[in-house]
Amino acid sequence: MSKTAIVIGSGIAGVAVAIRLAVKGFKVTVFEANQYPGGKLTEISFEGYRFDAGPSLFTLPELVDELFILAGKDSKQYFQYERLEEICKYFYEDGTQITAHSDPELFSREIEKQTGVSLNKVLDHLKKSKRMYELTDKLFLQSSLHKLNSYLNKHALNALVNLGKLKTNQVMHAVNHIQFEDSRITQLFDRYATYNGSNPYKSPATLNIIPHLEYNLGAYFPTGGMYSITRSLVKLAEEIGVVFKYNSPVQEIVVENKTIIGVRQNEKIMKADVVVSNVDISSTYRHLLKSEKAPKKLLSQEKSSSGLVFYWGMKKQSSNLGLHNIFFSKDYKEEFDLIFNQNKVPSDPTVYLNISSKYKSGDAPEGHENWFTMINVPHNSGQDWDKIIIESRQNIILKLSKILGFNISDYITCERILDPLLIEKMTGSSLGALYGNSSNNQFAAFLRHPNFSGKIKNLYFCGGSVHPGGGIPLCLFSAKIVSGLIGDLPGSIHKGNSNFIHK
Ligand SMILES: Cc1cc2nc3c(=O)[nH]c(=O)nc-3n(C[C@H](O)[C@H](O)[C@H](O)COP(=O)(O)OP(=O)(O)OC[C@H]3O[C@@H](n4cnc5c(N)ncnc54)[C@H](O)[C@@H]3O)c2cc1C
Repeated sequence: MSKTAIVIGSGIAGVAVAIRLAVKGFKVTVFEANQYPGGKLTEISFEGYRFDAGPSLFTLPELVDELFILAGKDSKQYFQYERLEEICKYFYEDGTQITAHSDPELFSREIEKQTGVSLNKVLDHLKKSKRMYELTDKLFLQSSLHKLNSYLNKHALNALVNLGKLKTNQVMHAVNHIQFEDSRITQLFDRYATYNGSNPYKSPATLNIIPHLEYNLGAYFPTGGMYSITRSLVKLAEEIGVVFKYNSPVQEIVVENKTIIGVRQNEKIMKADVVVSNVDISSTYRHLLKSEKAPKKLLSQEKSSSGLVFYWGMKKQSSNLGLHNIFFSKDYKEEFDLIFNQNKVPSDPTVYLNISSKYKSGDAPEGHENWFTMINVPHNSGQDWDKIIIESRQNIILKLSKILGFNISDYITCERILDPLLIEKMTGSSLGALYGNSSNNQFAAFLRHPNFSGKIKNLYFCGGSVHPGGGIPLCLFSAKIVSGLIGDLPGSIHKGNSNFIHK
């Protein structure tokens, strides 16, 4: 009889781990509290507009392809994407505008033209970013940091011998400031700390690995929108036998003699050989493992930032905007000081504007655009979010109107709003943090919860709040690590190439 696995939560990591375990021969059931899959990676539609509700920037698509390959399927039949030539348009308060081309040479030339920062400095930064990524990814992203055998191979040895090059004891902003000697370009590269909800004025310079993903490996747009990642993976999972149960919140992970028994829903216990929680790790301990002692130190680390999103239907098309647009604040240091040290929302925030209808015309009616407008905000610590929403909406409208040269409020036809309270309600993310813990100190990588329980046999964890961290690629790595830890069932048949490792 095949072994059974229960996955709690159908976030991207939950769906990915379900596929991996089904491929290994497990009979897998996913319990999802919502009536839809995807967690943060979901979509909303209203009044003729469609929006990807959460993530909008997509890198390392091969991690999604890998799941289809593992199941012996042709990924192109399920999921398509295109590489972006132009990654982002940057707008500064002083009038500077920079178009970030995906080609490092073109991008560096553009920076030189707009700011005078030498092309070589940018190319050098991207080369260092590549070197750091190649040193870190196998040990820090693709392995459990909490198993001895992760350190007993040549990749780990290489990373440990070259620890100095990873600049773990230097602060990201300080390194970037010395590299560029220009506040605008320092700000541009500091922004990558926000990709995992961190503060560039505190986080280690190791986070400078992130630009490598965009400029060297590439940023992508899924042809069916970001939600097609969830949709196609759920389709694959169902085809290989995974059963999804929606509107099915789990109330308890049932444990006996330090071993998994299964999960409890209402009064019913569903037995399983293995349980994987894709639920935020703080919520997992608080709600699902009430009688177990929680690892206080790991759970009390500083949380990542959250987001405040306005989804605006716009009855206008703007030719000077692209898919991804950033409107920087005047004082970046103050912005992060307010968010992380004072738990406040800046009155001059950096605004991220994503317009998927630039690539996917059906996302907005003819002649219109769908504006996903987001600012970084602190995680919830009891702020007055109703007041913050009113003030931030006004501040964003004023800022964008000034820079773009037209009153944007005249063109907003309809609106929905996502704030930290709603993020927590809809996904279980503790305090509405987008990426679990922040990376605001040099030991952050070691202070995320492991992908397994050291106390309860056959209990595992995946998703953005555990190792290796938040964001789609890292969530997919967490699923891969969990599947590796669980190991193969005797007699399981891998239909695809299980040794596929992204380049
Ligand atoms: C606004 C926003 C913008 C973002 N931008 C980006 C971006 O551009 N690029 C990027 O890579 N990442 C981005 N992220 C982060 C990214 O979305 C997340 O890191 C990732 O999607 C988290 O996936 P996960 O597997 O941890 O699960 P989650 O998405 O957190 O889902 C967890 C699931 O568990 C379910 N659940 C909770 N409790 C229970 C229970 N008791 N029983 C059953 N089910 C339960 C929830 O309903 C939910 O479906 C963004 C996130 C947000 C919100």
